[in-house]
Amino acid sequence: PFDVLIVGGGPAGASAAIYAARKGIRTGIVAERFGGQVLDTLGIENLIGTKYTEGPKLAQSLEEHVKNYDVDIIKGQRAKNLTKKELIEVELENGAVLKSKAVILSTGARWRKVNVPGEEEFKNKGVAYCPHCDGPLFKGKRVAVIGGGNSGIEAAIDLAGVAEHVTVLEFLTELKADAVLQEHLYSLPNVTVYKNVQTKEITGSGKVNGITFSDRETGEEKHLELEGVFVQIGLAANTDWLGDTVNRNRLGEIIVDNRNNTNVSGIFAAGDCIDSPYKQIIISMGSGANAALSAFDYLIRN
Ligand code: FAD
Repeated sequence: PFDVLIVGGGPAGASAAIYAARKGIRTGIVAERFGGQVLDTLGIENLIGTKYTEGPKLAQSLEEHVKNYDVDIIKGQRAKNLTKKELIEVELENGAVLKSKAVILSTGARWRKVNVPGEEEFKNKGVAYCPHCDGPLFKGKRVAVIGGGNSGIEAAIDLAGVAEHVTVLEFLTELKADAVLQEHLYSLPNVTVYKNVQTKEITGSGKVNGITFSDRETGEEKHLELEGVFVQIGLAANTDWLGDTVNRNRLGEIIVDNRNNTNVSGIFAAGDCIDSPYKQIIISMGSGANAALSAFDYLIRN
């Protein structure tokens, strides 16, 4: 069996693997796609100490760094079940069962998509999901934010500080964001809010040049010319496969303490799949390191 088995090979999992392996303990990592969300990212400008890199390049260097240590890497495999017996057992979709004394869950998250024409085509070409990451690319430009919940309105306020103009598109008749955020939003001069509207299409040629939406009451369609669209309709943790083996919050995020312990001893969690407020590469890396050090501490005490 492994001493530590890490499930998920994004920034959190890679960091956990390196920190565990450096303790000289038997470490394994299983990942469906090594690199995780980083593989889908173009430019990265906020990984401190690296002025600029690109997702695929960072994913490759994460893997090279892990391979520098004695870590069993199992790629292209999905975990489908977790059980705690004498050891913790992780069952893969191919039927294999991996056993370990401690497990670190780092299966990340995914942005919910609006699923309209143009979204996929112009991803990273004007369609963005992370205002902290891509906001500065739209300095002086016009953008839309799809989604009027807390994350959408926070994004709109954030973007209003850099972009020339921000349009918020909300599907429901009211914004769902906290009142204080709405007040702040409505105090800004360069923001327009449309409620009860449905996004129909993100238009462009090579890159985004506009958005089409319809009024849900009258059916009337409107087209706006703009350069960027931020989709802010929620982030979903990749934790469905866990069922109720570990405690999760209503968003599906795994609940951990400040040592990344879940409610089950020997099972830790790190990165975007936990109940932490901000989801970023550097935060996930720190979280993975914290979880691995906690797992090591657990192993020497048990
Ligand atoms: P993930 O990166 O989501 O990795 C999860 C890992 O778990 C993957 O290996 C996946 O294959 C695996 N996995 C999932 N389920 C299973 C399963 N059942 N069995 C086995 N393996 C499984 N952050 C920044 O800091 N800067 C940026 O510029 C930036 N830009 C972004 C742009 C885009 C388009 C996106 C989508 C995200 C961006 N982010 C950015 C956010 C950043 O990518 C994430 O915060 C970070 O990747 C989270 O790392 P993680 O390891 O927790 O999870």
